[in-house]
Amino acid sequence: MRLSVYFLPTLRETPKEAEIVSHRLMLRAGMVRQASAGIYSWLPLGHRVLRRIEQIVREEQDRAGCQEMLMPTIQSADLWRQSGRYDDYGKEMLRIEDRHGRDMLYGPTNEELITDIFRHAVKSYRDLPRMLYHIQWKFRDEVRPRFGVMRGREFLMKDAYSFDLDFDAAKTAYNKMFVSYLRTFARMGLKAIPMEADTGPIGGNLSHEFIIQADTGESEIYCDKHFLDFDVLGSDIDYADPAGLQKVVDSFTSLYARTDEKHDPEAFAAAVAEERRYEGRGIEVGHIFHFGTKYSEPLGAEVARPDGSQVPVQMGSYGIGVSRLVGAIIEASHDDLGIVWPEAVAPFKVGLVNLKAADPACSQLCEETYGKLQRAGVEVLYDDRDESAGAKFATMDLIGLPWQLVIGPRGLKAGTVEVKNRASGGREELSLDSALARLAD
Ligand code: ATP
Ligand code: MG
Repeated sequence: MRLSVYFLPTLRETPKEAEIVSHRLMLRAGMVRQASAGIYSWLPLGHRVLRRIEQIVREEQDRAGCQEMLMPTIQSADLWRQSGRYDDYGKEMLRIEDRHGRDMLYGPTNEELITDIFRHAVKSYRDLPRMLYHIQWKFRDEVRPRFGVMRGREFLMKDAYSFDLDFDAAKTAYNKMFVSYLRTFARMGLKAIPMEADTGPIGGNLSHEFIIQADTGESEIYCDKHFLDFDVLGSDIDYADPAGLQKVVDSFTSLYARTDEKHDPEAFAAAVAEERRYEGRGIEVGHIFHFGTKYSEPLGAEVARPDGSQVPVQMGSYGIGVSRLVGAIIEASHDDLGIVWPEAVAPFKVGLVNLKAADPACSQLCEETYGKLQRAGVEVLYDDRDESAGAKFATMDLIGLPWQLVIGPRGLKAGTVEVKNRASGGREELSLDSALARLAD
């Protein structure tokens, strides 16, 4: 992509309405624009990041055996009346009336709808287990939408649902999601700590929130510092091995990690030596819970057991805040100059900087390099504008692409280009060929 034609409305001034760094940087980097309170348009740069995060979530859901589908954003109120949540949900639910006077709503979550789909299709234990998910926009009329996409009213969520015959099988589904969440967040360069959670209005008794450490987070967290240096991606996970999954889950849940809702100072002191106690704040990026028959009972989602008797199906639901993650990753990865994208979610891998667009030799080499990177399959944003070097570097640092490849008249004479790593700030003078080989990895 050429920057001269790219829709990237960056801001020089820091927007006053933004209280936290991720919100400020997302506005300054031209990633989003507020449409109304807690509702955002995703501009091209922000949209690329959103899609990359979504894709990692998708790959890890698929790997765990969850199947993708897509449910609508608008739902009928009828199912919510059957589950009893139409009244319970209160003002967070956006209620709509259609032209025929029927009550509709913009879905804040999908337990009712998926249970309805399931009850019409599955009648027997032979068709279990099943795990389904979708990645779809939700609407919750939050009392205080704030912090940009972090607490929006309209937001993108991955929500998965599991269906099993009995508790043991449901526990295995829960464990699959637990492990897949560890992998998902680790791939984004995040350390998300699974913390014992309240089951809240959804009910049930097995629930974890996945929380990343950030001073601006809305949750108070208390955990064993060992959580801050674990490595999940290094270990082999076999989703077909329930005992193996249980072991991984046990190793994480045996250490103390709770939010203020569940925190117990005495238990914390007893479980964790003083020097290993971590107290701070965090951002909830995911939440998993087993809630048994809370929806299958009122909605009549029953399956036949091998002996012919009928039981309501055991369910769980598993959410990830896809759009919240964009802000959360920035909270975890930025510096004074701007965003520092982890390579796995970066909107482009390389920013190619033409230091002197007015110099034909320099521009020609840049054009050739741009072509070579594209042919090598490297996602590159090419700053071909006729701007000062300072302005170009400021833009590149602000939007935080992992690598900058700088080509200027001085290097041209010496036959070298400069490769800068955004995260470390490290610079290297290399021949063009070795620079290309490095970046095409
Ligand atoms: P919170 O306590 O932050 O309000 P929640 O418990 O209501 O979250 P869930 O219903 O479990 O959230 O939704 C699953 C995930 O969706 C959350 O873990 C979070 O990452 C994301 N999420 C929830 N509410 C919002 C919101 N208003 N804006 C952006 N993301 C959200
Ligand atoms: Mg909420």
